[in-house]
Amino acid sequence: MIPDSAQPRSAAHSHSGHKRKQNQDCMHMDDSHGLWIVADGMGGHHGGEIASAIACEEIPQQIGSGVAIEEALRRAHQKIVMRGREQPELRGLGTTVVVVHEQGLNYELAWSGDSRIYRWRHGQLTQRSEDHSIVQRMLKSGLLSEAQARNHPHQHVISSCLGSTSAEGLEIGYQQDAWEQGDWLLLCSDGLTDELDDPQMAAILKRSSDIATASRALLQAALDSGGRDNVSVALIQAPAHAPQGKPPRRNLPLAVWAALGSVLALGLVLGVKFWLAR
Ligand code: CA
Repeated sequence: MIPDSAQPRSAAHSHSGHKRKQNQDCMHMDDSHGLWIVADGMGGHHGGEIASAIACEEIPQQIGSGVAIEEALRRAHQKIVMRGREQPELRGLGTTVVVVHEQGLNYELAWSGDSRIYRWRHGQLTQRSEDHSIVQRMLKSGLLSEAQARNHPHQHVISSCLGSTSAEGLEIGYQQDAWEQGDWLLLCSDGLTDELDDPQMAAILKRSSDIATASRALLQAALDSGGRDNVSVALIQAPAHAPQGKPPRRNLPLAVWAALGSVLALGLVLGVKFWLAR
């Protein structure tokens, strides 16, 4: 278990789960440079551990030397591929990765595979990354519903990760965003999202007063729900000076619309009556 971060902007917890002996997930939490990474390694003979560790080492080094975030992921990918060639017993090693890099009040997101990035804003949980998986492709093209996707037997077949040498090549997702007051970002490995769906995660975030409590509670809920895989959770909070965003538009309840409609209709009837009676 990784202890609570001493730094105030992020909190992270990781656990091997109840079924696996090793924890092949790796995290890099660097509040001072605004760089946060979760990587979920795969491959036998410790290949998964090695791949996720390379991602957590190489990406910060590359970004630190001024390389753009997507290129940093590509270089980490090449490094993992090289390692597989040097050590044939590690063949097949790879790692998914999600990366947040902050620059002032803006941040970039980059990812490969099915680890995820969510934004928590005004009580709404929004997935910001898009899984590189076969099921996600089928979902996008309308071949599957959300419910079918969730229980699909090929749910874990990813279409890209760092180190993967599939014919389809490396896919890297990218997004940009800006912090608003009160925003949290959630980074996680699929050990969390396989155990908890989005409404369950949102309910936990809603009742958590701070990121350390939320991170711990999310991890515990995933373990309580089976903990079939390694689970890693990282939460990052907006800088203290982030601007106040626009409050979300709230839809008026149906009863209010009905009452307004009745008042308008009554006004119209009275108006017509008054006009006819002149
Ligand atoms: Ca995993």
